Amino acid sequence: MTAAIIDGKAFAAGLRQRVAQHVARLREDHGLVPGLAVVLVGDDPASHVYVRNKGEQTKAAGMNSFEFRLPDDAPESALLERVAALNADPAVHGILVQLPLPKHMDAAKVIDLIDPAKDVDGFHVVNAGKLAVGADGIVPCTPLGCLMLIRDRLGPRLAGLNAVVIGRSNIVGKPMAQLLLRESCTVTVAHSKTRDLPALARSADILVAAVGVPEMVKGDWVKPGAVVIDVGMNRIPKADGSGTRLVGDVAFAEAAAVAGHITPVPGGVGPMTIACLLANTLTAACARAGLPVPA
Ligand code: NDP
Repeated sequence: MTAAIIDGKAFAAGLRQRVAQHVARLREDHGLVPGLAVVLVGDDPASHVYVRNKGEQTKAAGMNSFEFRLPDDAPESALLERVAALNADPAVHGILVQLPLPKHMDAAKVIDLIDPAKDVDGFHVVNAGKLAVGADGIVPCTPLGCLMLIRDRLGPRLAGLNAVVIGRSNIVGKPMAQLLLRESCTVTVAHSKTRDLPALARSADILVAAVGVPEMVKGDWVKPGAVVIDVGMNRIPKADGSGTRLVGDVAFAEAAAVAGHITPVPGGVGPMTIACLLANTLTAACARAGLPVPA
């Protein structure tokens, strides 16, 4: 068997287009333009690339993009003041503080200050709590994107399926598990202390790997026909020594020989994250204006 490849790039392009259509209608019918503010501290090159991409895609969707940069040695108080100002700014519907932050800043304290209604990353404890109790809130972008890809393949057949999520971080693993539970999957969350992970993974109809260990999930960890979602983004040296290449947490070729559907890296989950950020910003803008939230 060879798995069907889940084209996250194409799916994300479709999602961004739907968001842009909603944004155009909001502008026309209500004079409302959603605004996303991104705050970047320091000069981590990867973060700069992410922030630039986010800004470009925000503008391409017809939204306002606001970008704020603080130097690496800025005091934490400067970042907190910036977040407070964005909380109070009616033109800003979504606030994202690019992580990681420099060591002298407390990410939890910063996230805690973001107005939960503008927390388009979905990391605030209020949004995490809403997800846990099944209330409407803002859902973290990466797991939301994974769920969209899973639903696209399995549709209404999710209830009762066994899902194994490898990884229990607050930004991917835990919210992913909550989302799958909300779909009535039987969910197991695995982590570094899990015993006999290969056997557990083999029980999964839906296997999500969010670990950060290159190509850890082998072909014989995969149940035949399973949906495999690879969140991992790991840079490893190329065999010929000419730089690095991006690989996931799943040994793609082996797993694709067994799975029913599988996301590649790159081009799978990655593009969904920014598309979901735009969708979350649109949702936040509609909610703020008391307008129906697009499905
Ligand atoms: P974290 O480091 O926060 O969490 C990793 C999780 O994996 C932890 O729960 C850890 O367990 C578990 N783990 C580590 N090693 C093993 C192991 N050998 N066996 C089983 N479990 C293990 O990472 P994130 O959740 O932030 O990210 C995970 C991956 O997803 C990374 O590659 C990251 O780059 C990628 N990512 C991709 C995004 C995208 O847009 N595509 C967005 C966000 C992340 P324990 O808790 O016990 O330590």
